Amino acid sequence: MDQPVTIALTKGRILKETLPLLAEAGIWPLEDIGTSRKLIFETNLPHVRLIVIRGTDVPTYVKLGSADMGIAGKDMLLEFGAEDMYEPLDLGIARCKLMTAGRVNEALPSGRVRVATKFVNVARRHFAESGFQVELIKLYGAMELAPLMNLADLIVDIVDTGNTLRANGMEPREMIADVSSRLVVNKAAMKRKYQSIETIVASLSAAVERRQQTGGLDNAG
Ligand code: AMP
Repeated sequence: MDQPVTIALTKGRILKETLPLLAEAGIWPLEDIGTSRKLIFETNLPHVRLIVIRGTDVPTYVKLGSADMGIAGKDMLLEFGAEDMYEPLDLGIARCKLMTAGRVNEALPSGRVRVATKFVNVARRHFAESGFQVELIKLYGAMELAPLMNLADLIVDIVDTGNTLRANGMEPREMIADVSSRLVVNKAAMKRKYQSIETIVASLSAAVERRQQTGGLDNAG
């Protein structure tokens, strides 16, 4: 008997890249996640179900064991912590970078630098390591607006193509971390449901490896 497994998926941009990879690993939802308003989905595997939640919530569900496994951006794991979870696999999808950015050609003020971000923990660690005195301003979206409205001197944000920064007169400055989506597993669930979970990890791992060998999506961008 397979033990039941719940996998928490990050909705939005990451989901679009996650579903094809899951399908390549032999797991697909029984209805169209894209058009449904449901949050829990049965799959072709009777013991596996998917929940679709915000990326910020995936670490919480997996840490607390409400979901046995999850797929989350490395940015979320860096920001919200990865304790009580294993991170067995880099899925190689939704690649981007966590960076600092500021207005084009503008020097930083000599005094305390104001940094707007939703990644306050990442930002705090980054500036502490570089010995910078900063004032952190927590925002929930549209970070690029903060320097334009003189709310902040710098932002810490996700950069993919850099188009959003450029469109707002900003430029990337320091690299903080390479980001891609990771498979995470609740530590207690890994013990209790080892067989079911290990089978899923192995299938996903094989799917990622196939992509790498064929120069698939993993090498894009
Ligand atoms: P870009 O204009 O291509 O640099 O994309 C930047 C914006 O897209 C960021 O502000 C993010 O909100 C979002 N974004 C891009 N890639 C990702 C990703 N892999 N995960 C989460 N958000 C992303």
